[in-house]
Amino acid sequence: GIATAENSRANMVMLGAMTQASAFIDPEAIKAVISATLGHKYPQLLEGNLRAFDRGFAELELHQLVCTLEHEPPAPHRAASPLGYENAPMGGTIINPGNTVLKDLSPTRMGRIPIYDRSLCINCGKCEYTCPDFCYTFAGGIDHKNRRGQVLVGIDYRYCKGCLRCVEACPTEALTTGDDEEEYVAEHGFSQLGASPPKKDGET
Ligand code: SF4
Ligand code: SF4
Repeated sequence: GIATAENSRANMVMLGAMTQASAFIDPEAIKAVISATLGHKYPQLLEGNLRAFDRGFAELELHQLVCTLEHEPPAPHRAASPLGYENAPMGGTIINPGNTVLKDLSPTRMGRIPIYDRSLCINCGKCEYTCPDFCYTFAGGIDHKNRRGQVLVGIDYRYCKGCLRCVEACPTEALTTGDDEEEYVAEHGFSQLGASPPKKDGET
């Protein structure tokens, strides 16, 4: 809600709320740190994030939850990990490569996604170089000038955190900012898991 309205991250709203809840942290000191760090790196994002902090601080509501159950709920059970200090890989090394490919990062988005219009795309690849999360997939095909080459196949929204850097990088209007709607994502998203490998020269 607040983060979407102020074009910030939810963390900034939570930081404001936690500052308020602590009752001893000086909000001006926190804002000075935000200004010095975020303002230095991304000055264009500072204003919205400071507003989000202020709103988190001012709009915090504290509720006391009272358990109305007649019986105590069962104690939470956590299955024992198959790995412990005796059998874990050396140094905690992750030994199954590509294990993050199945992770769906959609919940980390803040209500906005890049919207792709193929008719305006010149397949320059700037979106792919810019995206920090490898959401863009190119494959061999026929490009916008009817030549064989690498063409943008689509966006895998499961890895997209909605930073919109790709929209800024796109030199045409092929990428614009839109609302993160489940139906749109389901209909227009591209799944890299089901992607065919790019075609080699000479293949049709
Ligand atoms: S940056 Fe824009 S024009 Fe270039 S490939 Fe990506 S979507 Fe297409
Ligand atoms: S919004 Fe960010 S994470 Fe999503 S596709 Fe664009 S650059 Fe990648």
